[in-house]
Amino acid sequence: TGTALSAEELEAGRRAYQLDRRHVFHSWSAQELITPMVITRAEGSWVWDGEGNKLLDFSSQLVNTNIGHQHPKVVAAIQEQAGLLCTVAPQHVNAARSEAARLIAELTPGDLNRIFFTNGGAEAVEHAVRMARLHTGRYKVLSAYRSYHGGTALAVNITGDPRRVANDYGNAGTVHFHAPFLYRSQFHAENEAQECQRALEHLETTIQLEGADRFAAIVLESIPGTAGIMVPPPGYLQGVRELATKYGIVFIADEVMAGFGRSGKWFAIDHAEVVPDLLTFAKGVNSGYVPLGGVAISEEIFATFAKRVYPGGLTYSGHPLACAAAVATINAMREEQMVEHAASLGTDVFGPGLAELAAKHESVGEVRGVGAFWAVELVKNRATREPLAPYGSSSPEMNELIAACKSRGLLPFANFNRIHVVPPLNISVQDARTGLAILDEALTLADAHAED
Ligand code: PMP
Repeated sequence: TGTALSAEELEAGRRAYQLDRRHVFHSWSAQELITPMVITRAEGSWVWDGEGNKLLDFSSQLVNTNIGHQHPKVVAAIQEQAGLLCTVAPQHVNAARSEAARLIAELTPGDLNRIFFTNGGAEAVEHAVRMARLHTGRYKVLSAYRSYHGGTALAVNITGDPRRVANDYGNAGTVHFHAPFLYRSQFHAENEAQECQRALEHLETTIQLEGADRFAAIVLESIPGTAGIMVPPPGYLQGVRELATKYGIVFIADEVMAGFGRSGKWFAIDHAEVVPDLLTFAKGVNSGYVPLGGVAISEEIFATFAKRVYPGGLTYSGHPLACAAAVATINAMREEQMVEHAASLGTDVFGPGLAELAAKHESVGEVRGVGAFWAVELVKNRATREPLAPYGSSSPEMNELIAACKSRGLLPFANFNRIHVVPPLNISVQDARTGLAILDEALTLADAHAED
């Protein structure tokens, strides 16, 4: 590690870039307006770009590689499984899948003991909603405006993120609501308790006005991630649980991003000690080494499908390579106490470190988060809270900030007017501080666009 790339690696990187521009169609992009970054190599919390520059990965590749890059135990487990059995159809039993399901059932809260495997987060959300519809015999779905649930047809319709709008081909029964977000409160709330109470009243009113007996599911990220890491106020998730129970609505906690240790607990909903009816996961379950996601299912919803066919499936459901990677990931996380480490990074490093940056930089409107899951919200004006990029778009000011981070050796996760601090859970305290120091320098540029 730490060595410069060889001439061959540099040449391979250049060729990869040329071929990419000629043949690869990129997600969420105007194809000719992007300059995607080449990543040639990665290890732990570090990646190497096409020019051989070493960057600290504060993005975890879309908040995915929770255990860092190329963890030797997980690489070895994938290699071992590949030597044994690479693929098996979902109707057969496979040891890697059985053990992955056992471990996930053990970690998820309450009686979420049955695991349906998918290839990623969007499919997990799709299947969770379908299970809820079949279970309740109802159709409508509630989800938050500031949310991201995936890029497939149903998942993007449930998503509240502005990217949904470009994909709008009619209402598939989704009703959006405002989840709590005190910094940009929809409820004119002045504190967390007010925000919480008013958000719950708004949710209940929405349910009643839209037909209390029509809702199959409420889909909610336990901590909304892509939309800005809005840690819910105390009592909110308990309140949602109560409303879901009161109106017979299936509570789907989307833990695709927040789950598997990101928040400093195995699942973000564990902070509230709430048990949902269905829990969707992906990403951190095996750190993204092989595509994997799934739905953890309560015994009550399982009972619906005990004697009745569940009409859904995927060729790769419970793929052995992905499941072997999940088993090795979860074991490594436990052995190396990564969830505990993420929690202490939040309280000892990112919490105080980012608060210091917020106090120092005029361009920082708010920092918020928990564990290894933090957002820095950039503004042009702290009083008006005008964002440094409009909601749903980038801006030259944000692009300048991102470039400043990269040129100083930090790969950030940026979304609209926010920089998210989401490194691997096992990043060293020293590397975490190095990343914050680079962010500190880069924010000085953003300050030039902020007015007091
Ligand atoms: N739900 C949440 C909360 C997510 O963060 C994401 C991905 N960022 C998804 C669902 C969709 O996952 P995927 O991209 O694996 O389909």
